[in-house]
Amino acid sequence: MAGRLDRLRAGFDVAGVDALVVTNPTNIRYLTGFTGSAGELLVGADAALLVTDGRYAEQAPTQVAESGTEVAIAGTDRRSLVVDGLRGSDRVGLEAGSVTWSEQRRLADWLDGSGLVATEGLVEELRQVKDEGEVARIEAAAAIADAALADAVELLAVGVSERDVAAAIDHGIRTRGADDRAFVTIVAAGPNSALPHARPTDRTLREGDLVVCDFGSVVDGYRSDMTRSFRMGGRAGGQEDEMRDAVRAAQAAGLARVADGVPLAEVDAACRGVLADADLADAFLHGTGHGVGLDIHEAPTLSGSATGTLRTGHVVTVEPGAYLAGLGGVRWEDTVLVTDDGHRALTRAPRAD
Ligand code: ZN
Ligand code: ZN
Repeated sequence: MAGRLDRLRAGFDVAGVDALVVTNPTNIRYLTGFTGSAGELLVGADAALLVTDGRYAEQAPTQVAESGTEVAIAGTDRRSLVVDGLRGSDRVGLEAGSVTWSEQRRLADWLDGSGLVATEGLVEELRQVKDEGEVARIEAAAAIADAALADAVELLAVGVSERDVAAAIDHGIRTRGADDRAFVTIVAAGPNSALPHARPTDRTLREGDLVVCDFGSVVDGYRSDMTRSFRMGGRAGGQEDEMRDAVRAAQAAGLARVADGVPLAEVDAACRGVLADADLADAFLHGTGHGVGLDIHEAPTLSGSATGTLRTGHVVTVEPGAYLAGLGGVRWEDTVLVTDDGHRALTRAPRAD
C-alpha cells in the first residue's frame, strides 16, 4: 500500500493536474485500503484526504492508516471539507470514467476558480503491474476456484442441470474461505454454451453436450478467472471435438507468446491464427484476454486493437473460444502472471480430455 499514492503523484505533471479527486471505489481501495462503497479521495501534492460518511467512521481510519491518508467524516459539511481539501490546487483532475455528470457539475460549482481536468486511467495504469502481495491474493483465489471445480466435476452427469453445477462451484468457493465469487458463475451446456456470457439455466446435461464453466473467486478483494470446457461422455468425434482441439491449441499458442515486452496484439494474433487455420476465425467472438486484479476485467486488454505490451507483473487471462450457434461453444481460460521470460499459471485446474 505504501508508495502507491506517491507513484500516482509522479504522474500528475504529465496529466496536467496538481490534485486528483478519486471517485472510483476500486481505485480508492487500491490507493488506501478503504473498502467502503461511499467516499471520495482527494490526493494533493503532499497529503491525501478520504471524505466519507458516518457509516465508515470506525472502519475507515484503521483501513487507510498504512497509506498515510487522513479521514474526514462528512455530514452537512461535505462541501467545505472538499473545498478545504483541494485548496491551493489550480488544476483538479477528475476520473472521467467514473465521476457522474451531476458530481462534476457540483464540483465545478464548489471549486469555482479552479480548473477541472478530465483524466483517464491514472490509477488503472498503476494497478496493471501487481506486487507480491497482490499476486499472492490472486493465486489464493485461483487455488480456491481450482478446488471448487474439482468437487463440481464429480457432479457432471447426464440429467444434472446447469444451475446445479453452478451452485456446486459457488458452494465450493464459499466454503473454502473466499470472500465471494469473482462474478456470476457461468455453466452453459449444449446450445447454451454458444453464448459466451450465458447464465446457468434449468437445462439438464445431455450425452455429447459441450459444457463451458467460467468462474472465479475473490480473496481480500483480488479475483481469479478460469474457464474449463467439457464434453459429456468424453470424446465422440464430430465438430464438437474439433472445436475443443482447436481452441486448446489456440490457447497454447497464445500462452507461448506471453512474456515481458511482447505486444498485447501479438498474443491475440497467435490465438486467432490457430482458430483461423481450423476455419473457426468467425467463431471467436471476443477478445483474447484481460487484466485481472481488484476488478475482474481491468487493464491491459489483449485484443487485436490493443497497442501496448505485456510487462512483468501483469496478471492477465488468455481465453480463446469458439462458438457455433445451435451447436455449442468451447473456451479455455487461465489467469497467468507475466514474467521476464514467459509466464506462471495461477489457475491450475487440470483439463479434461
Ligand atoms: Zn472467465
Ligand atoms: Zn476472463
